[in-house]
Amino acid sequence: MSRKHNFSAGPAALPTAVLEQAQAEILDWQGKGLSVMEMSHRSEEYVSIANAAEQDLRDLLGISNDYSVLFLQGGATSQFAMVPINLMGEKRRAAYINTGIWSDKAIKEAKRFGEVSVAASTESDNFSRTPTQAELQIDSGAAYLHYTTNETIGGVQFDYIPDTQGIPLVSDMSSDILARPLDVNKFDLIYAGAQKNIGPAGITVVIARKSLLGNPLTGMPSMQDYQVHAKADSMNNTPPTYAWYLSGLVFKWLKEQGGLSAIGAINARKAAKLYAAIDASDFYGNPVAVNNRSIMNVPFTLADAKLESKFLEEAFAADLLNLQGHRSVGGMRASIYNAVPESSIDALVSFMADFEKRWA
Ligand code: PMP
Repeated sequence: MSRKHNFSAGPAALPTAVLEQAQAEILDWQGKGLSVMEMSHRSEEYVSIANAAEQDLRDLLGISNDYSVLFLQGGATSQFAMVPINLMGEKRRAAYINTGIWSDKAIKEAKRFGEVSVAASTESDNFSRTPTQAELQIDSGAAYLHYTTNETIGGVQFDYIPDTQGIPLVSDMSSDILARPLDVNKFDLIYAGAQKNIGPAGITVVIARKSLLGNPLTGMPSMQDYQVHAKADSMNNTPPTYAWYLSGLVFKWLKEQGGLSAIGAINARKAAKLYAAIDASDFYGNPVAVNNRSIMNVPFTLADAKLESKFLEEAFAADLLNLQGHRSVGGMRASIYNAVPESSIDALVSFMADFEKRWA
């Protein structure tokens, strides 16, 4: 077996230990004589798997009983619609912070359901930073404020939680949930597609303050109603059972690593090593304001853009996979989620130094 260094932005690397456990259990889950994939979602066995995953996630993030934890389908992209459908209410208006491609997609979708005001945008700075708290102009009539904690493509991450003066706070945490400790109580709704820091693609986690649910816009499909899913323990219909199971294995693995403060310290160290390598010379560059540099997605460019394809080709030959930047922006990007081991960062950093020596 040879597992290469995987810097994919998503679907992304999973912990090897998790894949090994899944492999060991694939034909026969805990002596029951069948695979998790073959179980009824209503069976006692599967319900125990689903409940354990939810409990482990609650433990990791310290999620209180004031919140429902939902395991849904449709990706974070479906949440771009479900958030306004469920939270806009009679106000029919919402405020959004625009920090890049993903928040912009959320804004465009929300506009289908009501009025959107942009509380701040850093577009004029090429999305190279987040706005400061002082720059936020939040419409006081907004039903909620939405922001993207970490822009996966731009590599821009908030270094504070916006103060909304009482307006419900909603966040897309697709690419940095579980990356470090988080005070969930500061939020009213958090959502995240699984395929980066949670598990395989096909499942989406929503953490929602219960008191906000139950007032969706009229005429919407019941599958878009959080309350329907909350009442059914995310089993209103057949859930993505295997993705839910694998996510549960990842949560257990995170607990074994020491939880979010331990993984957060490792992530900070991994990111610092990579940014230090980028900053070490003018050969590599990263345009993001230092306090907003993402600890999960690290975009970088070469001073001589003509060397990019050479870089990617040689990196691939050195078992460093998926370093090409998003198709919309080009350049390079290393996604260094929880499951990417520090040894992969070390391998990338030494490759970068070697490449520079040969090509600078
Ligand atoms: N939000 C963010 C921050 C993302 O990174 C992504 C996916 N890369 C999405 C939303 C969309 O997620 P999905 O593909 O699960 O719909």
